[in-house]
Amino acid sequence: MSELTEIFGELVFNKNVMRDKLPHSTFERLTDTIFNGKPLDSSIAEEVAHAMKEWAISKGATHFTHWFQPQRGGTAEKHDSFIDYSDSGNIIERFSSKQLIQSEPDASSFPSGGIRSTFEARGYTAWDPTSPAFLIETGKNKTLVIPSVFLSWKGDVLDLKTPFLRSMRSLNDSCIRLQRALGHKTATKVIVNCGPEQEYFIVSKDLYATRPDLQVCGRTLFGAVPAKGQQMEDHYFGAIHEKIIKFMERLDHELYRRGIPAKTRHNEVSPNQFELAPLFEEANLAIDHNLQIMNVLKGVADEHNLVVLLHEKPFAGLNGSGKHVNWSIGDNTGTNYLEPSSSPQKNLNFLMTLAAMMLGIDKFGGLLRAVVADAGNDHRLGANEAPPAIMSMYLGDYLTNLIHQIQNLSKINEETLADISMGVRNLPRISKDYSDRNRTSPIAFTGNKFEFRAVGSSQNPSEAITLLNQLCTYGYYILERRLSAMKGKDIKESAMLLLKKVFKETERIRFEGNSYGKEWHHHSHELGLPNAPDTPTALPAFTEPESIELMEKTRVLSEREVRSKVDIKLETYIKTIEIEHKMAVNIARTMILPAITKQITLTGKAASALRQSNIISAEIEKDLAMFESLYNEIKTKTKNLENSIARAYSEKDTLKVALYFGKKGAKALAELRSAVDKAEELISDEFWPMTKYQKLLTIF
Ligand code: ADP
Ligand code: MG
Repeated sequence: MSELTEIFGELVFNKNVMRDKLPHSTFERLTDTIFNGKPLDSSIAEEVAHAMKEWAISKGATHFTHWFQPQRGGTAEKHDSFIDYSDSGNIIERFSSKQLIQSEPDASSFPSGGIRSTFEARGYTAWDPTSPAFLIETGKNKTLVIPSVFLSWKGDVLDLKTPFLRSMRSLNDSCIRLQRALGHKTATKVIVNCGPEQEYFIVSKDLYATRPDLQVCGRTLFGAVPAKGQQMEDHYFGAIHEKIIKFMERLDHELYRRGIPAKTRHNEVSPNQFELAPLFEEANLAIDHNLQIMNVLKGVADEHNLVVLLHEKPFAGLNGSGKHVNWSIGDNTGTNYLEPSSSPQKNLNFLMTLAAMMLGIDKFGGLLRAVVADAGNDHRLGANEAPPAIMSMYLGDYLTNLIHQIQNLSKINEETLADISMGVRNLPRISKDYSDRNRTSPIAFTGNKFEFRAVGSSQNPSEAITLLNQLCTYGYYILERRLSAMKGKDIKESAMLLLKKVFKETERIRFEGNSYGKEWHHHSHELGLPNAPDTPTALPAFTEPESIELMEKTRVLSEREVRSKVDIKLETYIKTIEIEHKMAVNIARTMILPAITKQITLTGKAASALRQSNIISAEIEKDLAMFESLYNEIKTKTKNLENSIARAYSEKDTLKVALYFGKKGAKALAELRSAVDKAEELISDEFWPMTKYQKLLTIF
């Protein structure tokens, strides 16, 4: 065996381990739950818990934890030891089915957007048997990790996994209904596959230690753009530095042990920016794996004296980091509906799925923007960087022509249907071609999947994937309803007639040009496409009546849950900005102004030494005056920023506080930053208190 196959998944309670450790009938029933979506048969839970515990202990585990995805982002866990008293009072290791299935973390400090007031009962976590348990190494010992959902005692959603799992259910229903309406009989279960591409920056741990802004906020609040940034375009796909290769090798090794199929690794556009992409997997697993990837990235970097930055915009003036979420849908027969084929039936599924996504994006573009909105991602979306905040779809020349051909069909018969199917069939050769790509589009069709590029690098991809599922559900639902109203015709002809209409109706969201350009901003505005520049303006899309209807009809969130989600997002946004602004004030006062004072002292000494020799140096006197005025400018702008924090909190409600922070607050920070960045280029290196971009961006 190669090293890869030997270590792959050694930390996972996967199918092979289950087959090995469980009685055959228990194994069958458990896999029925995992792979066929059957409800968990609680009578087998005791055996599963026992097998899991034995396996974990044999691997060195001492503790177990339920692992869940709170709405504030990231993951959360609470460790419990296996330790217990036996009936005779001795110490033993125990793990019961009850502990496997349900646990009560002390949840009062997780955000719940007002759903659960502090005096109310706590939330609980519950095992998600469709994602395998695994081991994490905590110091010398290991911990058995049980992927879980997180709910309040009343059953309200407190996490991001529950809505995702719910979205799969309604997508399944609408998909199978449409399949039946089209006369397709083989599909019984829908499968969504995802491959999230993860971008990140790396800096040296020592240099990171000189930057309180990076440490506290994850991004630099100050820093002049370096002489050599990304303008040489020499980093993208460039040779990877040896030190980074060593880090990446270790990273891949650790991911393989966790059963995470890391596939590609390469340099990205900015200096010190990299990307990792896994093989695609079933979406639930892909999400859980992406969350693990973000943790493992940080841990392995630490061992190499490096720090991984997952923030969307660690450095001004350089490209930010995103998470391109590749999404495709198919069924139990192994068919990918987004894969063009030689079968006319499959090609009809292909066109129907395209149309469903067009209907969804056309109706819910604002919501799709809102779902990826947060303080970090605001530096990418709507800030002249990839991708824009206007949600449009890119199909490439070939597919666009084909769609036009369908839109312009004057009659539909056997011959035209065969023609269209032949057109779809020829697509793969074309769309796999790299030149037929548009890197500026937020939602691009790339051969056999959609690539949604607006997700932030630090975000849990779950929310975006959940919404893509819902948009597809909505589209399938509309198509099925309209199709069943078109009585009397041959179903294939009806379907093509319907596609022709839908392609026409949703034309405005398809855009093949440069999505960053001014022309598209103007034109998309005329077309009525939403374009929210920041989080506070994007979030209200969640509570539009049609969004709430979508959430309720797809049974993903109740209205109460939607409103609590928006509260949490607003609160998180406000806290993030407040911390950034307070940090900027603090750094300016305690690090920047003292550095300028030192410079003034030095230059002042030089000026007075010269004066004593009866030399009046006009240039040195000018410098002295300039440093003094720079000091005053930074002092004033620091005060302004500080005042704007207080001013923001005088607003009446949270949305207004957020809006103030987003506009006036951001402006006050930008003004302070510009003065500080000017100072950085004037003050002596020996006095400047923080490592500069140029050095931060060369690790070695
Ligand atoms: P590109 O972005 O150039 O198309 P790849 O084809 O390597 O690059 O795919 C990038 C990501 O898309 C990978 O994480 C991969 O797993 C994922 N991916 C590929 N095919 C699919 C698919 N059918 N469904 C979902 N994700 C996919
Ligand atoms: Mg890609």
